[in-house]
Amino acid sequence: LVDLNALAEEYLKIAYQGLRAKDKSFNCELKTDFGAEIGKVGVVPQEIGRVLLNLYNNAFYAVWERQKAAPTGYQPTVTVRTTQVNGQVQIRIIDNGTGISDSIKAKIFQPFFTTKPTGEGTGLGLSLSYDIITKGHHGSLLVESQEGKGTEFIIQLPTTH
Ligand code: ADP
Ligand code: MG
Repeated sequence: LVDLNALAEEYLKIAYQGLRAKDKSFNCELKTDFGAEIGKVGVVPQEIGRVLLNLYNNAFYAVWERQKAAPTGYQPTVTVRTTQVNGQVQIRIIDNGTGISDSIKAKIFQPFFTTKPTGEGTGLGLSLSYDIITKGHHGSLLVESQEGKGTEFIIQLPTTH
């Protein structure tokens, strides 16, 4: 059994350091809000870790990209929130980055779909994450986004007994 809160926090830092290694001037506020109730969950840690890393990398990229274009006063923020509701664990990854337009949102889970320049993205992160969560763990992966405001990905996993 895996401590999802610990995993979520560990990968958040790894992803942040990854972007800071490429751009030392990048500073992002990290927020964590871990549900006290959330216990250990029967998931494959390497696989959930991979999903978290994909989603965090996307979130940091989105705030980084927005900051490049933003006037002063913009505070990049990535938040991870975990809760347990009705026999399900939810992990929410929230960024105040570029957001996703509706036409792009329709394609983001397709393999090889990317809006990033060559070398920055393979377009495989979300399709792989979707398969890991839905096929591998009987969960769901949802997205809510507003262009220009930010994005929230919601991982829902059934709790096993
Ligand atoms: P990649 O990151 O290699 O482009 P992904 O499958 O991880 O591939 O994501 C596909 C596309 O979805 C991205 O290129 C981007 O356009 C969009 N996207 C994913 N996450 C976010 C996010 N948090 N904010 C804005 N756009 C996002
Ligand atoms: Mg990605």
